[in-house]
Amino acid sequence: MAKILVLGGGFGGVVAAERLVEQLGDQHQITLVSRSRRFIFYPALVRLAFGKCRTEDASFDLRDTMLSRKVNFIEAEVARIDCDQRKVTIAHGEMEGKLSYDYLVFALGRRLASERIKGFFENANHLLSVDKALKFCDAVAAFHAGHAVIGQCPGARLPVPVYETAFALSRLLNERGTRDRVRITVVSPEPPGPQFGDSEVTIALKKALNDHDIEFRSDFPIDRVSPGAVTTTNGHGMNFNLLMLLPPFTGSPAASYVGITNEESYINVDSSMRVVGVERMYAVGDCVNFSGPKLGHMAVRQAEVAAANLAAEIDGHLPVSHYVHDLRMVIDEGGAGSLYVHKDIWTGEPANLGRGRFWGWAKRAQEKYWEVAHS
Ligand SMILES: Cc1cc2nc3c(=O)[nH]c(=O)nc-3n(C[C@H](O)[C@H](O)[C@H](O)COP(=O)(O)OP(=O)(O)OC[C@H]3O[C@@H](n4cnc5c(N)ncnc54)[C@H](O)[C@@H]3O)c2cc1C
Repeated sequence: MAKILVLGGGFGGVVAAERLVEQLGDQHQITLVSRSRRFIFYPALVRLAFGKCRTEDASFDLRDTMLSRKVNFIEAEVARIDCDQRKVTIAHGEMEGKLSYDYLVFALGRRLASERIKGFFENANHLLSVDKALKFCDAVAAFHAGHAVIGQCPGARLPVPVYETAFALSRLLNERGTRDRVRITVVSPEPPGPQFGDSEVTIALKKALNDHDIEFRSDFPIDRVSPGAVTTTNGHGMNFNLLMLLPPFTGSPAASYVGITNEESYINVDSSMRVVGVERMYAVGDCVNFSGPKLGHMAVRQAEVAAANLAAEIDGHLPVSHYVHDLRMVIDEGGAGSLYVHKDIWTGEPANLGRGRFWGWAKRAQEKYWEVAHS
């Protein structure tokens, strides 16, 4: 019987564990380790911040779900991995221990490197946890006039919630009858040019922003936040009365110093999702070193590929599945301006673009599906 350890209870870890059980049955021991027993459905956090769903709709109990699928669950912090000894050091409160494994799936997501932006912690709102989304909800409730600035810092690699927040704010202010008292600006660290590497997507996005009278400011790499103002590396400033800003991301610290990452601590993997230079180890999700935005559907697909190849490896076979790095995302504008983008990042072929109310609805239906399938 092989001992398989899955680290991380997000999209990548949960799907990897579920697919492994489907393929291996109960012949092998599968254990998932995560620091919290709650699974967070991140795409719902913008709606949570605008009061369109409840906290319970944006998360579920991971432990019960895993146990019902015959996956052991350990609630603990992963401190270190030792790829040579095949051991993982975990901590829970004052307790520390080591778990040995035969095969490892690393899915610990990204780290928020907010320390790189001076004043971020004290002065910025973001949406990268349930608590922060609820805090931003309070800030929106108290905001009635002035300048709202919404954007990403260099290295954030997550455009969807930026645009969705801008659209949701515009709609909310319209409902309140105070839209004309507010200026909304979306800021991007990138130079002017196609967003998402595709001119069609840029045109569609800019049209949707124009329709909401939302300004777009490119080449605005924020490196400092003070009370009421953001400043960029190239010396530009912008005042705000409401700020939602995504901090830079890096890879998981648990993978640093093991010699398997790039300089931003993202893990190097091949297209079978095996970690380069290490045996019996796979990595999936936001933690891996692939270009472009970091999205949940990528984590899911990578987890499916890793699970198929890990099951094949246990049976002594070569990899049977390969990952293709394509981007699929819905930017929910709240109505007919919603966008669906599908683009193969590795080939750079022009994107397929869908527009209309249907896509926002489809995204919410997918959220419901996850909730039902995992409760
Ligand atoms: C506001 C927001 C909106 C988004 N919208 C979309 C969208 O519309 N579409 C889309 O495709 N993607 C979206 N994303 C991105 C998507 O949520 C991520 O790409 C996805 O969650 C990545 O999955 P993951 O499993 O790699 O990492 P995560 O979901 O971050 O999971 C990592 C897991 O590891 C655990 N963990 C981390 N470190 C440790 C440690 N040291 N010890 C123990 N446990 C640890 C965490 O608690 C977590 O359970 C959005 C993200 C956010 C924040």
